[in-house]
Amino acid sequence: MSQANSSSRKTWLKRLGLFFLLILLLVAILFFRAIRFQSKQLFFKHTAQTETFPSADSHLIQAIQCKTVSYPDKIDTLEFNKLKKRLREAFPMIHEQLELTIVNKFSLLYKWKGSDSKLTPFLLMSHQDVVPVSPNTEKLWSHPPFSGEKAEHYVFGRGTLDVKSGIIAQMEAVEALLKQGFQPKRTLYLAYGHDEEVGGTNGAMKIAALLRKRNVKLDFVLDEGGSIVQGVVPGVQKPVALIGVAEKGYASFKLSVFSKGGHSSMPPKQTSIGILSAAVEKLETNPFPTKLEGVGSLMFDYVGPEMDLGMKVIFANRWLFGPLIENKLDQSDATRATMRTSLATTIFRSGDKDNVLPVKAEAIVNVRILPGESIESARRFIKSTINDPRVNVSLSDGKSYEPSDISETASKQFKKIHRTTSEIFPDVIVAPYLMLGASDSKHYRQLTKNIFRFIPLRLRKNDLNRIHGTDERINITNFQECIRFYMQLIKNEQQK
Ligand SMILES: [Zn+2]
Repeated sequence: MSQANSSSRKTWLKRLGLFFLLILLLVAILFFRAIRFQSKQLFFKHTAQTETFPSADSHLIQAIQCKTVSYPDKIDTLEFNKLKKRLREAFPMIHEQLELTIVNKFSLLYKWKGSDSKLTPFLLMSHQDVVPVSPNTEKLWSHPPFSGEKAEHYVFGRGTLDVKSGIIAQMEAVEALLKQGFQPKRTLYLAYGHDEEVGGTNGAMKIAALLRKRNVKLDFVLDEGGSIVQGVVPGVQKPVALIGVAEKGYASFKLSVFSKGGHSSMPPKQTSIGILSAAVEKLETNPFPTKLEGVGSLMFDYVGPEMDLGMKVIFANRWLFGPLIENKLDQSDATRATMRTSLATTIFRSGDKDNVLPVKAEAIVNVRILPGESIESARRFIKSTINDPRVNVSLSDGKSYEPSDISETASKQFKKIHRTTSEIFPDVIVAPYLMLGASDSKHYRQLTKNIFRFIPLRLRKNDLNRIHGTDERINITNFQECIRFYMQLIKNEQQK
């Protein structure tokens, strides 16, 4: 063997050694970070509440039977009045001892005055209205949608999940506490709007305005939103209580293109339809940038430490595995929407005669904006992505609202909700999350910075389609748990 050969072999071995050393170091760092990725769960003693509420099912059923369907331009006054009357009959002590203000004819605001006026009041909310049953799907229901029929340990009907269960569970909890002679130190409000499904401007918005007029400040607001899901959060076997700490903004933009028109026998290279299609194509192939940081990341801080070791290594080292995680989240529509502002072209119209060049082409794109961004930044992104002066981009008429702020998970208010959840549901991991839809809670932004969105309904993946869909139903045992949750929360909220 020549001398040159042996020395090059030595250098090669040295490099190989160095390479393995680096790998070893990297693995050590990854595992070190995974070990330091500590659980954020608060471990409280399970309260082992055994109390049951025998009339709760029948109260829920009676509420489901009121067809309080929301339409954009009309209201079924008879059905809303029927619901109001049924609540009065079901909860006599509440109606005797709490102050009820009827806001804008149908919305309900109850006030349970606390004995200590120095404590800031808190507010539990829900809504009375439901979405309609889609035409021609009525027959697909196993039980008629407004029957409230009980079967297989469930109550079936529109509103069982979204969200008359919230009203009845909260009122059931208050009524039970009144029966026990409980006297709160901290004032509690119960607020039930009547038009959440069409934006809440006649209900929740008016209630919030009234509270502002009364100079009320709130310790926190708890609305519907997240629930206890199983088989939904990737990599987690246990049920996860998702507590909404923020919600996305909402806006629709109109894209319009004008061109000369004329006869189609001597067409230009691109018609207004072609120009607009190209713009839409650009928007679909160049989505808004992903942001793994922010609320999405907050959720991983809570669920990550509860995963098995392999997954824990990945989520503890997002600095390295970020692209891998993004790729995984990108594969499902639901998770993709959690890490970016989403965009969907929902309306496209142009042309009316086969041999006439269309003068105008118009499309509507609906965006759901990530907290930290804004309607204006979304507009700028759309404009620069299309990058074509022939396409005009403007905010479309109709509703639009900015994304919410992110409520603090380090706050004592979040911790109280976390604590209550762990006490009633010891099998569950608690995690903050970003709500993709919108809730009535947006109207309360000026009353508190602590807005949380959660109702402890236990849902599996295939239950998610039941919300606003067919065969909406609630498990009877779970409904009892919801009542215990609100009772415990009211008790826990008595401390400073
Ligand atoms: Zn709802």
